[in-house]
This record gives sequence, structure tokens and C-alpha cells, in this order.
Amino acid sequence: MSDQTPQTGRIAVVTGSNRGIGFEVCRQLAQRGVRIILTSRDENKGQSAVRRLEAEGLEADYYPLDVTDPGSIQRLRDFVERQYGRLDILVNNAAVYLDDRHSLLAVDYDLLRLTMDTNAYGPLLLTQAFVPLMRKNGYGRIVNVSSGIGELSDLGSSWPAYRLSKILLNIQTRIIARELRGSNILINAMCPGWVRTDMGGPGAPLSIEEGADTIVWLALLPDGGPQGGYFRDRRPIDW
Ligand code: NAP
Repeated sequence: MSDQTPQTGRIAVVTGSNRGIGFEVCRQLAQRGVRIILTSRDENKGQSAVRRLEAEGLEADYYPLDVTDPGSIQRLRDFVERQYGRLDILVNNAAVYLDDRHSLLAVDYDLLRLTMDTNAYGPLLLTQAFVPLMRKNGYGRIVNVSSGIGELSDLGSSWPAYRLSKILLNIQTRIIARELRGSNILINAMCPGWVRTDMGGPGAPLSIEEGADTIVWLALLPDGGPQGGYFRDRRPIDW
């Protein structure tokens, strides 16, 4: 099955999808017939993102989600179960990049905590919440949107909070992949490259469409596809 095959009937949650790469992932998945649950921590921004998709003739449902709030994650999970009875695709995309110092020895604890809550523990809690629902249906695709900054094989020291959070996101991807071995729930991490979003800035070489491509590919993997990998440009990279 190619990722161009219509995916009518599949249901996807994308975190932090009111703007940037997350919004583009919603767009590309909706274009392939996936039923999107667009989420955002600010309801007005999320609803206006849904209207942007609708203006392009695409459909999306909306639900508020702050990935740092376990109660918010639980409410989303209950909504998805009540409304659809299952979840096929989870894209852990939401993240913050708050570092203002470039030394782990000087990193501010509150900044570190917020970064870890958003970029690492939020994805973990979402995965914990939705894997049981995926198991019931015998199908799941989980994409952890990471960064090359989390590559242990090429480790720098700048952006310490963001770096630690993406390293943890990568490691949890591998651990959970082992737990899911033998199931049809595929979890993978990826780096979108340096992308022109609010986070990446205007000087980044990649368009948002290019940044979303590998995420969409991983979200639509066929049965028997890679499990517990780390990808860029649809190709495996070193951890
Ligand atoms: P972005 O433009 O800054 O968008 C981040 C999104 O995350 C926004 O929708 C934001 O919502 C949301 N978010 C932040 N905290 C949240 C929370 N607590 N709960 C729910 N949503 C929250 O970033 P991006 O460039 O699209 O990045 C998307 C992903 O790609 C991230 O995981 C990032 O680390 C990764 N990445 C990006 C680049 C790049 O060059 N852009 C490179 C490598 C990896 P608000 O609008 O409310 O702030």
C-alpha cells in the first residue's frame, strides 16, 4: 500500500496542530481521507485552524488538548472512545523550544520542567492513554516528532532542555516499541529537518510541506512496517 492510497475511515489525533508542522500533517492526512482530530491548547486558535482546512474543502474535528495536563489528555481519550470507539494514528507533534542559555550546567529548572512536560512526558502520557484503545482494535501508528538535536551519535551541548527532552522522546520510542513487539501498533520517531515554522524561523531550508512528509509516511505505514526506528527523509538515521 502506498501512502497515496486513500485512508478513508482511519482516525488520527495530531497534537499541537493549530499551526506549523502539526497543522500541515492534518492537512496532508485529511487529503488522504483520514478523519482528523485537530487539537490545540488554545481553543480559538484550534477552531480557526479547522476553518482554514474547511476553506480548502477538507474536514477536521476539533478537541482542546494541553499535552502538559494529564486531565486534558484523559478528557481527549474519553472523547475519542465515546465519539469514534477507536484511534488509529497518534502524532505526538506538540513541543516547545524555550532554551535561552546554552549550558546544561546553567539551565533553569522551571524551563527544563516545562520543556520535559511538553516534549517528553506529554507524548508518553498520550501514548499510555491511547495504546489500550489501539490494542482493542489491533491497529495503531504512533509518530513521535523528535529532532536531530536528540541524536546521541552526534551530540552537541547547546539547547540543553530541548535536547534532553528529545533524547528522552527517542528513548521512550525504543522502549515502547519493544513492549509493542508482535502487535500491529507501530511506534517510530523522526526528525523533520530544519523547517520554516515559528520554531524553525524564516531562514530554515525546508518548507512546512517537506517537514510534514516523513511524519505522514510513518502515520500511514503498512502492516509489517518499521517498529522502533528513527527516520529523516523517509530513511533510517542513527540514534
Ligand atoms: P511550532 O511552529 O512552534 O508549533 C508548535 C506547536 O506545539 C503549536 O501548535 C503550539 O501551540 C503547540 N504546543 C506547544 N505547547 C503545547 C502544549 N502544552 N499543549 C499543546 N500544544 C502545545 O513548531 P514546529 O516547528 O511546527 O514543530 C513541530 C514539531 O517538530 C516539534 O515537535 C518540534 O520539536 C519538531 N521539530 C521542528 C523543527 C523545525 O525546524 N521547525 C526541527 C526539528 C524538530 P501554541 O500555538 O498554543 O503555542
